[in-house]
Amino acid sequence: MDWGSMLTFDPDGLSWAQRDGDACVICHKRWPRPRVRVGRFPDDTHVLACNDCADSLTPAPRATVVSFRGR
Ligand SMILES: [Zn+2]
Repeated sequence: MDWGSMLTFDPDGLSWAQRDGDACVICHKRWPRPRVRVGRFPDDTHVLACNDCADSLTPAPRATVVSFRGR
């Protein structure tokens, strides 16, 4: 599932670093550098978060991916 297309963030309350992808959009942490796309801004810029915050943002952990047995 592509969560990046589901969440839109309002850049108004964010710092330039967060808007630039230099800091986590949730916890403002700059190191380790946020690498997970968690959404986008209205102008289609990617919103990045660190792994911890991305985990808390995405309601469905990867582990819930089930294999469908069609036959
Ligand atoms: Zn974070």
